[in-house]
Amino acid sequence: MAKKIDYYEALEVDRDCSQADIKTAYRRLARKYHPDVNPGDLESAQKFKDIKDAYDALMNPLTRDKYDQHGFAGLDPGFRTQEDSSFVVTDSQAEPIVSDDVFGAAGMDDIYNVSEVGGSADRGTTPEPGSDLRFDLDISFEDAAFGLDTEVDIPIFQECDMCFGTGAQPGSSTRKCHVCNGQGMVSVSEQTAQGSRLTRTTCSTCLGRGIILDYPCSQCDGSGQVQKYERILVKVPSGVDNGSCIRVHGKGAPGSKGGPTGDLYVVLHVREHEIFERHGSEILCETLIDFVQAVFGAEIQVPTLEGPAKMRIPPGTQTGTIFRLRGKGLVDPQKGRRGDQHVKVTVVTPTSLNERQKKLLMKYAMAVE
Ligand SMILES: [Zn+2]
Ligand SMILES: [Zn+2]
Repeated sequence: MAKKIDYYEALEVDRDCSQADIKTAYRRLARKYHPDVNPGDLESAQKFKDIKDAYDALMNPLTRDKYDQHGFAGLDPGFRTQEDSSFVVTDSQAEPIVSDDVFGAAGMDDIYNVSEVGGSADRGTTPEPGSDLRFDLDISFEDAAFGLDTEVDIPIFQECDMCFGTGAQPGSSTRKCHVCNGQGMVSVSEQTAQGSRLTRTTCSTCLGRGIILDYPCSQCDGSGQVQKYERILVKVPSGVDNGSCIRVHGKGAPGSKGGPTGDLYVVLHVREHEIFERHGSEILCETLIDFVQAVFGAEIQVPTLEGPAKMRIPPGTQTGTIFRLRGKGLVDPQKGRRGDQHVKVTVVTPTSLNERQKKLLMKYAMAVE
């Protein structure tokens, strides 16, 4: 395998350069070494691959930081350091929202599907904020109870690095759209009850781009954007319930014309537990005892979220009695304290007694009379 070239050297930039410098350097070099510009030239192809690898790694602040600190080893997927979690947290600025219905009455329909992002941009000049994105995450009951830091790969759309977002195959020509005169928008007259009215709409000839592509880019099919995945850390706080959302600032779709990036909403789906039934921050489970334990009382073992625990039941316990284990439930995210666990006791009537046991019970029955 060829020796890897230092990413900063590959892009011919200083180590303390800005993300914008990296982008500029990449564009300049990519134009020079792109395989379409140098067909059949293996050296250029390798060079292009090197600068593309460098660009991908350095444009993501997360991977750039890892590379700065640990070199290529830091980019190995299995690589972990102690600082990792703290760094990632500040970067993604995860902020928990623990309401069941954070989207209010308007509901989830306001949140764009990831697949709806992208498409044609209008050619106006007003900055437009990027859409908020939604990501569904399945977590276990225990993780909901105690919280979880997890990394998820979210689909993002990035400017196509082959056509630099123009949608045109490198080297091919583009023409100004004659239908909209390069504006991307056209006025159409619409018939209403009050007569006809002019409305502005996206030009269907150039799809709002303002230009006509002779050859659409082969990498992005002319859309100017490609889908990639970005790994981000999501901090799930303790006590979240099914349907809770976590908002991650600035990880939604990019804005256009300088508008701010949208947010990412991670919607949590909490799996059911085999033993515990959840009621808000309280949990309920059932346990079986035999009738001797019910009569004389006993110390029994019951499951809790932290593992088996001892619980005393008093003499004369009736079937169906519910005992409370204080503070063994889930954290109430609003109040910050833990709810209780409730244990419902069922007394099991013996079904297979031997002769001696039967005689003793008969004696007991007679003594009661
Ligand atoms: Zn492209
Ligand atoms: Zn047009």
